[in-house]
Amino acid sequence: MYCEVVDTKEDGAFLKYQISEDMIIAGKKKSANFTVIFHEFDSEVKCNCSKFEFRGILCRHAIYVLIKHKMDLIPDKYILRRWRKDVTRRHTKIKISYNESNATLEAHQCDKMQKTFDEIKELAADSEEKCVIVMA
Ligand SMILES: [Zn+2]
Repeated sequence: MYCEVVDTKEDGAFLKYQISEDMIIAGKKKSANFTVIFHEFDSEVKCNCSKFEFRGILCRHAIYVLIKHKMDLIPDKYILRRWRKDVTRRHTKIKISYNESNATLEAHQCDKMQKTFDEIKELAADSEEKCVIVMA
């Protein structure tokens, strides 16, 4: 509800939206502009805030454009496997036990990697540059 289209340009099959978003920062109302590129045929949407690329979650600017195009559902490609509840994950198949003798080697390795990935994620979360390096 804080987003508004301020400009639209057509570039071939792509539509380029300028989205203005009102936000409250330190008690003051400010607005920021974002560019969302939309391709209706492929249901492609890309915003220059890059939230999807960095966090794996489609941003409000992109969703706002999808809504403008009467798309009631977020395209499947924008719901990453990690957020889905309808997929089977390798590590969930394994019974995790705190008893060393009952845990499998695979479970231990999954647990160890998860802890390391979590630490890396936390270290990189505060900077776009770090996120790009981690993603690469
Ligand atoms: Zn965005």
